[in-house]
Amino acid sequence: MSEPIVMRFHYSVAEVGQDPVENSRDGEPLTVLLGAGSIIPGLERELIGKTAGDRLSVTIPAAEAYGLHNPALIQRISKKHVPAEAHKPGATAVLQTQGGPRVVTVLKVGMSVLDVDFNHPMVGKDLSFEIDVVETRPATPEEISHGHVHGDGGVHH
Ligand code: ZN
Repeated sequence: MSEPIVMRFHYSVAEVGQDPVENSRDGEPLTVLLGAGSIIPGLERELIGKTAGDRLSVTIPAAEAYGLHNPALIQRISKKHVPAEAHKPGATAVLQTQGGPRVVTVLKVGMSVLDVDFNHPMVGKDLSFEIDVVETRPATPEEISHGHVHGDGGVHH
C-alpha cells in the first residue's frame, strides 16, 4: 500500500478513436486525492506512482471507466422535468434528482413523456486519456480522513 498522495494533472479524454470530449489544458489542471475513488478506477491505478513531468497515454476499458450500460437506468418521465429544447432524441439535459444533478440522454419523445437514459454519457465506452502530471505531494492526515483534497484545487473549509 503506497502513501496517499495528492496529484495535479492535465488530461484530455476521448472515446477510443474519436476527438477529445474534455481537455483540462484549456484551464486549470485537475487535483485529486489518489486512492480515494474520486476518479475512474482504471485511471487511478495508472496514476499511482507517477510523478511531476510524467506523460502517459492510456486506454481504459469501459468496465474500469464508467462501467457497462445498465438498462434499468432507462426511465420514462414527464416532459415537464426536461427543458423543451431537449425534447428530441440524442439531446442531453441536467435533471435534479435526490442524488444531486444528473446528466440524462433523451432516447424517445412521446406526447407527454420522454424515455431518458440515466447512464453516464461515457458509459460502455473504452476511453483514451492523455495525461501530464503537473505536481504531486503527500496528502495531509486531514485530507486522508476527509477523503478529498484541501486548498488549491480542492475543498476550502
Ligand atoms: Zn475536508
